Amino acid sequence: MKQVALITGSSRGIGRAVALVLSQAGYAVCINYIQSREAAESLAAQLRGEGREAIAVQADVADSHAVNEMVRQAEAELGPVTLLVNNAGISWQGLFQDMEDAAWDRMLAVNLTGARNAARAVLPAMISRKGGCIVNISSMWGLRGASCEVAYACSKAAIVGLTRSLALELAPSRIRVNCVAPGCIETDMVRVLGQETREMLVAETPIGRLGTPEDIAHAVAFLASEKASFITGQVLTADGGFTV
Ligand code: NAP
Repeated sequence: MKQVALITGSSRGIGRAVALVLSQAGYAVCINYIQSREAAESLAAQLRGEGREAIAVQADVADSHAVNEMVRQAEAELGPVTLLVNNAGISWQGLFQDMEDAAWDRMLAVNLTGARNAARAVLPAMISRKGGCIVNISSMWGLRGASCEVAYACSKAAIVGLTRSLALELAPSRIRVNCVAPGCIETDMVRVLGQETREMLVAETPIGRLGTPEDIAHAVAFLASEKASFITGQVLTADGGFTV
């Protein structure tokens, strides 16, 4: 069966690495972005230049109509989606009581409802084919809590609940649902925190470095692979020992 992966938020950072690793593993990939058209288009063009199937599609994951349209386009151009990687996410740092309603709502809309929207859109094809795989990207902050990132931590904890509950609901359809909880990964999301915080995070990571986007991409590829065919509803923490 042809393997088609839709990776939300794959123009940069972890999602981009996931798209590259899955493409190298033989998946046709749908690269999703919200703003970074050039980065997404050039990644898709690079992969096509290497003889692989890839398209770039703009959609705000928080917008269910846009997500449905993206999935329709992916299915029309690549075929039914066999693997969904719910990676698109945003972060916000600040005191809990300083966060405006709109910022709180947007956080949950992108990080949680975005994953719901994408899962709901790919499921009809997966259920009718009795197979498929969903890998959600949570965060170690969703497992242990994060001061000054309350909304982010809530959204990522909810991703764990989504993963476990969907895994149970979809197991009879032979659809596996797992999640990866990354530690501190060297991407724009961590770079905005500044050098001092970065060094503090490295010091707190037992393995002595930040993770790379590829570290997470390989964890995703494992959970998506046949090697993980008996694994569902699980959280794979990839954090260099931070939460141990
Ligand atoms: P990043 O470098 O900031 O990249 C975010 C990606 O998500 C970009 O491709 C961005 O697209 C896309 N995106 C953002 N909002 C979107 C929306 N509404 N609709 C569609 N796409 C959207 O982030 P990252 O560090 O790679 O993080 C990826 C995921 O890993 C996130 O869920 C994040 O919470 C999680 N995570 C990251 C870390 C870390 O340390 N970096 C740790 C734990 C978990 P544009 O380029 O178009 O803006």
